[in-house]
Amino acid sequence: MEYNYLCPKCRSNLNLHHRIIFAVKNEKDERGLMLLDPRLGHYDSETHPGYHILEGEKVEFMCPICHVSLTASEINDNLVKLVMIENENKEHEVYFSRVKGEKSTYWFTPESFKPFGDDADKYLEFFKSSKKYSGLL
Ligand SMILES: [Zn+2]
Repeated sequence: MEYNYLCPKCRSNLNLHHRIIFAVKNEKDERGLMLLDPRLGHYDSETHPGYHILEGEKVEFMCPICHVSLTASEINDNLVKLVMIENENKEHEVYFSRVKGEKSTYWFTPESFKPFGDDADKYLEFFKSSKKYSGLL
């Protein structure tokens, strides 16, 4: 199944060539582009060979179209939020860790919730204590 991802602000499609594309900034303030696997729980990422992000570094993810920061500070400053469209119409929310190497992904439909990745436990409490999601966890 192929999922489509949208920028939560401008709602542009971020999928291209079976990847999700982002504008990113590393902790040295160097900018680049990053491709991520759109499948939940898959953590392969690609950047230009000359662009480096170190393990543990906090990456700022930005929409490549409207340039808004995708950091989900309302839940936790280490998380990024995207809108996911399934089967043309069903809309979900996806959060994932912006810390390089951390495998934490969270998928929300209006009725349910599913965590993915070896490090998923790390941010669960922040969703539990949020007004919006506490009922789903
Ligand atoms: Zn945007």
